Amino acid sequence: MANMNTLFYQDQYRREFDANVLSCSEDKKGYAVILDQTVFYPEGGGQPADHGTLNDVHVLDVREKDDVIIHYTDRPLPEGSTVHGVIDWDRRFDFMQNHTGEHIVSGIIHQLFGYENVGFHMGETIQVDYSGFLSDEQIEEVERRSNEIIWTNQPVIITYPSEEERAEIPYRSKKELQGTVRIVTVQNADICACCGTHVGSAGEVGLIKIISHEKHKGGIRMELLCGKRAFAYVSMLQKENHEISVRLCVPPEQTSAGVARLDEAMQEKNRQLAEMTALYLQERADRLEITDPLIDVLKGIDRNSMRRYADDLVKVRGCGTAAVLNQTESGIFEYVIITSHDAGLRKLAKELNRRLQGRGGGSDEMIQGTFAAPEEEIRRTLQEMLAVHD
Ligand SMILES: [Zn+2]
Repeated sequence: MANMNTLFYQDQYRREFDANVLSCSEDKKGYAVILDQTVFYPEGGGQPADHGTLNDVHVLDVREKDDVIIHYTDRPLPEGSTVHGVIDWDRRFDFMQNHTGEHIVSGIIHQLFGYENVGFHMGETIQVDYSGFLSDEQIEEVERRSNEIIWTNQPVIITYPSEEERAEIPYRSKKELQGTVRIVTVQNADICACCGTHVGSAGEVGLIKIISHEKHKGGIRMELLCGKRAFAYVSMLQKENHEISVRLCVPPEQTSAGVARLDEAMQEKNRQLAEMTALYLQERADRLEITDPLIDVLKGIDRNSMRRYADDLVKVRGCGTAAVLNQTESGIFEYVIITSHDAGLRKLAKELNRRLQGRGGGSDEMIQGTFAAPEEEIRRTLQEMLAVHD
């Protein structure tokens, strides 16, 4: 792709140009426009295509096929005419910051641990897969060292060394390369064969943040953000943390301790609520007339308490079969049914679910789930189906 009409290689900062339309034809992706020269970078090497305009026609995608760059536009352009092209510079510079940032991180990981970049994708975030796993401490070190490359504003140098020269250069590459190879060097950080567009010096990357990492195929998958994207991400986190700090009345540097205290207080409240619920249900059971089946409809009771209550009704108070229901906020009924009869509850659950728009199941001794039918219909159906006929 390194021929004379690829203006983005002659000057990676060029945003505008004039060109002649060599051909324009319609295909399923829109109008395919070929120019005699261009600053539009075609999708490749993990970097997405440039967008922009040719006169007042929008360029929506750019691809390279057999060394020819094809601009996909929303409207046709006359063959033989001259057009003025402008690329969406915000989009392009964002890719340059993130692509160079990715090289710095990959170069540092290669330097420190010898792992290879085995997968690279630029989307919402920059996703990179490495051939070996890194601990949290190692990732912190990679992030710090990568940012040191930025602080010391290391130059980014593009060269096209000959095959003999290349043999002497320890550059990273995904495959064996022949012919002209474009080598992107970030001084003191990385040497890599790459066809993408890059900033002129590391300082322009601004900031590198590794925002997530997970084990992946014997190595690690990382998400990075560089430059403006990293800044926006940090600002977003700061806003979130500010909200938490205001709500918890703690300084922004102590929000996690604040959340831990909130969590403890919540657990304590849950313990108290469970105790009170148990007490309430015990007193409720004391007042109930014990029938078989016994159907009791409650509100605002958690499933654990429902189970304990039904268990108490059957095993302690001897009601044979207990159906405990809880009406939820959305109006559906959660159910727990426990029996001491040889009633085959598991099979019965299917029939109940069918008749009462329910779901759920369990064992022959206990079933649980939800019913969406109205309360009266549930009561009637349960009364009929849970009754023991000797
Ligand atoms: Zn690259």
